[in-house]
Amino acid sequence: MKPAAFSYHRPQSLDTALALLAEFGYDAKVIAGGQSLGPMMNMRLARPMHVVDLAGLPDLTGIERGPDALRIGAMTRHHDVATSADVRAACPLLSEAVSTVGHYAIRQRGTLGGSLANADPAAQIPLIVRTLGAWIDVAGPAGQREIAASDFVVAPMTTTLEPEEIITAVRFPCLRATEGYGFELFTRRHGDFAIGACAATAVVEAGCFTHLRIGVGGVDDVPVGFEEICAKFIGEAADTTTIDRIAAQVTASIAVRDQAGVSAEYRRELVHVLTARALARACRHRS
Ligand SMILES: Cc1cc2nc3c(=O)[nH]c(=O)nc-3n(C[C@H](O)[C@H](O)[C@H](O)COP(=O)(O)OP(=O)(O)OC[C@H]3O[C@@H](n4cnc5c(N)ncnc54)[C@H](O)[C@@H]3O)c2cc1C
Repeated sequence: MKPAAFSYHRPQSLDTALALLAEFGYDAKVIAGGQSLGPMMNMRLARPMHVVDLAGLPDLTGIERGPDALRIGAMTRHHDVATSADVRAACPLLSEAVSTVGHYAIRQRGTLGGSLANADPAAQIPLIVRTLGAWIDVAGPAGQREIAASDFVVAPMTTTLEPEEIITAVRFPCLRATEGYGFELFTRRHGDFAIGACAATAVVEAGCFTHLRIGVGGVDDVPVGFEEICAKFIGEAADTTTIDRIAAQVTASIAVRDQAGVSAEYRRELVHVLTARALARACRHRS
């Protein structure tokens, strides 16, 4: 299929891009890698009258590693995130998760900001952003603002971004030197969107958890973080019994729905298994 007719704009500055969005409002959509918007336009599920291409804005691309945070421009391609030595050193959980997004060709075109703005419940990047508590830098007509990960995705494919705003970058906290990580993804076929995924990080000292983060994606409407459950287990032994108790609490507290071909019962079991595996890996890595 072909998309409905639209006007194409390729601004050369962020200010011009923002001015176009302010002028056209809900009639405009920005395009980044086009890996989600392109198919949606082709199927006429999206019919923007104006498409504003961010490819002419080099300032939105790049990876900067600071002492505490990794700042990645919104237009940075999945492949560049997955293969960056800086990302691997500062935030290996992100490297590993991004390297599982779709297929090689998708990762060459798809972008960090595009995946986040698209907010697919089963997508890897929104899950890692939520698990690590990253910050999203946004530019709009009123200037710049930052959005906390927990305030960003509010429903499937829905975020708190205004139509005239653009994500400029995402800031991920660097993992601590002793912080292990685990990422577990279950798909029907290689490259498919996840039926379920879990990301976890842990610091284990003297055999006990001193720091813990867990996120689950692909199951509820949005990626879910489990800060309260994690806080309860600080100081407990980092062993298989505790890991199983944590996985049970995560599973009990997440909304799991029946979906075509995947029952809620199956998904609940999947969340338990993926959480336990991700945590076990997080305890082994670096500790
Ligand atoms: C066959 C196939 C398999 C895939 N498999 C996976 C998978 O397994 N896991 C996964 O996570 N993803 C998967 N994807 C999606 C892929 O990761 C896309 O890269 C991603 O969803 C969208 O990124 P994009 O840069 O292509 O954005 P686009 O398609 O250009 O845009 C997507 C949406 O985000 C908005 N947008 C884009 N950039 C910005 C910005 N900077 N600020 C504000 N809004 C913005 C657009 O207006 C649009 O609404 C798959 C895609 C395909 C085609």
